[in-house]
Amino acid sequence: MTMKWTFGQVDEVACSRCGHIADRSDLDRLLWCKDCIGSVRNWAKRRSWMVGFCIGIILFAWIWIVVEPSRTLMGGWAGTVLAAIYVSARVTREVLYGAIRMKTSPES
Ligand SMILES: [Zn+2]
Repeated sequence: MTMKWTFGQVDEVACSRCGHIADRSDLDRLLWCKDCIGSVRNWAKRRSWMVGFCIGIILFAWIWIVVEPSRTLMGGWAGTVLAAIYVSARVTREVLYGAIRMKTSPES
């Protein structure tokens, strides 16, 4: 943090999550500092890959047991599983992030 000549007039606000004092312009709409946004984004990202991976395994098992794909079609199914992992991870990430943001919003 840099000392400002206008100290006292600067609009400084505490982050609503960690309490870190930051310039108002450095906080977002929910009064979160950049560190908090980054850490929650990272947390949601890690979780979402785990969820995506689990969904991928289930989908793979389902295809393997129910569809019983022939050797020539395996490539296509592998692509489907990878796409499912990617899409579900993305969706989970946004849902988790949105849920945390909602939970810690000042209005609640
Ligand atoms: Zn913070």
